[in-house]
Amino acid sequence: MNAEKTLVEINQLRKSFGSNEVLKGIDLDVKAGEVIAIIGKSGSGKSTLLRCINGLEEFQSGTLRVDGKHLLHDNPQVMRDLRQRVGMIFQSFNLFPHLTVGKNIMLAPTLVKKTSGAPAETQAKALLQRVGLAEKFESWPDQLSGGQQQRVAIARALAMQPSVLLCDEITSALDPELVGEVLRVVESLADEGMTLLMVTHEMNFARKVCDRVVFMHQGRVHEIGAPDEVFTNPQTPELKQFLGMIQ
Ligand code: ADP
Ligand code: MG
Repeated sequence: MNAEKTLVEINQLRKSFGSNEVLKGIDLDVKAGEVIAIIGKSGSGKSTLLRCINGLEEFQSGTLRVDGKHLLHDNPQVMRDLRQRVGMIFQSFNLFPHLTVGKNIMLAPTLVKKTSGAPAETQAKALLQRVGLAEKFESWPDQLSGGQQQRVAIARALAMQPSVLLCDEITSALDPELVGEVLRVVESLADEGMTLLMVTHEMNFARKVCDRVVFMHQGRVHEIGAPDEVFTNPQTPELKQFLGMIQ
């Protein structure tokens, strides 16, 4: 891994829904292996930013590069490549209910990468082991707890061997006692050098695991810095207020 390589490059990204400008010129560079927490009030544009990075949302202006490749919505081949490079996990686990855990994980590699049969199965089992669910290969999603389903969703995203993983409040829908098991998996990915961008309300986790914290406010990167700076020495009234609100 080249620690200096910039994996995600965002320059002056602007995104509107109708007349509502939601991202007002975002600049952000993410290095390979970096773990970044994105925090901020509801409506500040956090999800929209992640959705732009993985190509789910088009944007009006600015540039976005992943792994050196420009994101061009009018080029289907580029967008297909991008979706393989960028994994995303959501608050709702979105497992396919009619497929077993193993098949959920094998689906995308089988369809997209044409990895099928034994190699896909071997990979799926290894990924399940990695998220601590080796014995659940034949289980159905509804037989699992929310925390287990979210860990399967992580395994499923990893099956495409993404260069960067985007996590949008992936523990927010979980009962409190299930949050830790999911965060432990994320922490292990961080330890292994995965590049991670995660929207989270888990401030203790952000403090412990993340390299940098981005505070978004009204569609802008309002503050950015090391967790210690951002959490103990916020510079703006908006961040002070936000931290006061939630601690
Ligand atoms: P956050 O994740 O920080 O809560 P979002 O990125 O979800 O914020 O939303 C930012 C703003 O964009 C909000 O005002 C929201 O209403 C608006 N928005 C998000 N998605 C859409 C959409 N698909 N259509 C119209 N407006 C949207
Ligand atoms: Mg959101």
